[in-house]
Amino acid sequence: MTRIPYWNISYGILIDLFALVAVIVFARGAYGHWLRIRQGKVRVRKAVDLPGKIGPVFVYALVTKGILGAKLYKKIFTGVAHGFLFWGMLVLGVGTTLVVLNVLFGLPVFQGGFNRWFMSFFLDLAGFAALIGLLFFLIRRWLPPERLVTPKARIGFSVQIGILMAVIITGFLVEGIRIAATGPDPYAFVGNFMAAWLPGSALAAHRILWWGHGLLCMLFIAYIPYSPMMHILLVPTNTALADPMPGSKMGVMDFSSFDDEDAEEMPTLGCTRLVDFTRKRLLDYASCLWCGRCHEVCPAASTEKPLSPKGVMVTLAERLTNGQVEDENLIDDITEEALFACTTCTACMEACPACINQPKTILKFRQNLVMEQSRIPELMGKAMTSLEQRAHPFFGTGSGPKEWCKDLDVPIFAKGETEYLLWIGCSVTYEERAQKIARAMVRILDRAGVSYGILEESRCTGDPAKQMGNEFMFSELAQTNIEEFDDLGVEKIITLCPHCYNSFTRHYPPMGGNYTVIPHAVFIDQLIAGGKIVPRSGGQSIVYHDPCYLGRRNRIFDAPRNVIGRLGRLVEMPRHGAESFCCGGGGGNYWAEEVGTRINQVRSKEALDTGAERIATACPFCLLMITDGTKKFTEEPKAFDIAELVAEGLE
Ligand code: SF4
Ligand code: SF4
Repeated sequence: MTRIPYWNISYGILIDLFALVAVIVFARGAYGHWLRIRQGKVRVRKAVDLPGKIGPVFVYALVTKGILGAKLYKKIFTGVAHGFLFWGMLVLGVGTTLVVLNVLFGLPVFQGGFNRWFMSFFLDLAGFAALIGLLFFLIRRWLPPERLVTPKARIGFSVQIGILMAVIITGFLVEGIRIAATGPDPYAFVGNFMAAWLPGSALAAHRILWWGHGLLCMLFIAYIPYSPMMHILLVPTNTALADPMPGSKMGVMDFSSFDDEDAEEMPTLGCTRLVDFTRKRLLDYASCLWCGRCHEVCPAASTEKPLSPKGVMVTLAERLTNGQVEDENLIDDITEEALFACTTCTACMEACPACINQPKTILKFRQNLVMEQSRIPELMGKAMTSLEQRAHPFFGTGSGPKEWCKDLDVPIFAKGETEYLLWIGCSVTYEERAQKIARAMVRILDRAGVSYGILEESRCTGDPAKQMGNEFMFSELAQTNIEEFDDLGVEKIITLCPHCYNSFTRHYPPMGGNYTVIPHAVFIDQLIAGGKIVPRSGGQSIVYHDPCYLGRRNRIFDAPRNVIGRLGRLVEMPRHGAESFCCGGGGGNYWAEEVGTRINQVRSKEALDTGAERIATACPFCLLMITDGTKKFTEEPKAFDIAELVAEGLE
């Protein structure tokens, strides 16, 4: 039968007036969010970049991560429950709008197949799915996993969950009484079920429930911006505006503003108050769901360090909501120890369903601590002094710059003659264990007949300075390197360290350094694929540890695995690929006095527990950290760089 809109209801159209009030209250609240976020600095974007980015960057991210919530499904139950709720409510919203259009303009939605399938069946299905989603979330608020309550739980969701449940249940009751009174609607399966239990004569109850249902809907809409439910707008916006590059892109600081003698006040180095951050960062904090996925995967948080990326975001979100944007105490509240415990591994970013860039905030605070306040942990400070005085952070090293190649005949890069610069980098030059990576690589390149050369003098790219927060020192080192590369006409670089690769590809181009850069793992893979080298397989089992700066930050997962596949049997740890666990050495933490459990020991144990004969990696810092970590469990040397394994297979 044809459904009669506003059946048994007098003046039902009045609900639209309430809807108008709800929308006004909603808009006022949403405007309050915008006012808070606009207190941040405007990010300077090149206007020419924008049009080309709209579809492939903003819209793509909005649809995939924002609306479809792709990252939410990494936790399958939460993802499905969220999908049920979101899509269910969306379909119900469309249905309600169609009813209003029918009443106002006679839109024929209660006829034929559309009525049967959409207005009856799909609306019931949507309500049912939303109810299941809501039940899941309600139970999780009562029995929360640890990440939801650590270091702080969010209140406010339960109220909105309760209102929504009441909206859906009253909706089904209204439908049930209507069907009981007017006759069955075969496609409205929930309504028919309810009608079997409800009296069709309960007309007064029907009217009360109808108005209750409508008013609760309006209450829900009006309350959204004043509750955590505002994430339904903030998260898709934040997602659309997130940098499409994987990992955290720090940008390069422009120091020219510090030379402006007419400026009324000196620019701040790094950030110390909320107003020092960009609007995008403030949007990050406002969008945080307090879900703790970042906390759960953070190597620092999971090894008793004082850092929780969720804790940092929550602190900033609360200050933002309270209007404390000029608050100078942020760093002291978060604590210096917490900020320097970050290994910049970006596991938090990878896990975050709201596409928040937690490491960037942490590094902005570090920049202020280091460059403006000269506050840095002692060992990191020593590394920084060494960088300043000797262009490498390995203070106290007993190894000279030529030590690693003393009995090798390694060519020096010759302008116009050499094709590739083999960039050795600081850790490989000065750390005895890592030196074997360069020696192995030289053997591989010689065997493959590659035209390569090294610099007369080995230096650091500046990555440790940047990650510790000394952007000024990074700029100086990078500028020196770029000038030398320009003098030598360097166009192609092979890196042995993913930190160098990351610097060359992300941070050197804005400073004028544009090169073709290839990580050694990728280059070796190409040499093998091209038949330039044919390493023999030892048949051994090898577990691969993904370096954060190669894998998660630059999406290089396959090449090292291809190489290992040629040498033996590839074994995976439970946490691998984009979900890999850090070795603990990034972000300057190679030079840290660790509190709590040592991250490198956790990772080494995970690798050893696979039972693989060897552990392979493709980063000198990972090699050093894991070599050290395995010593707690075995005396046998277990960790090797893939270049070492390949060179061994060439003998
Ligand atoms: S970057 Fe890594 S160490 Fe730093 S907060 Fe995120 S997960 Fe933790
Ligand atoms: S930063 Fe992201 S992952 Fe961490 S609590 Fe907030 S929304 Fe969740």
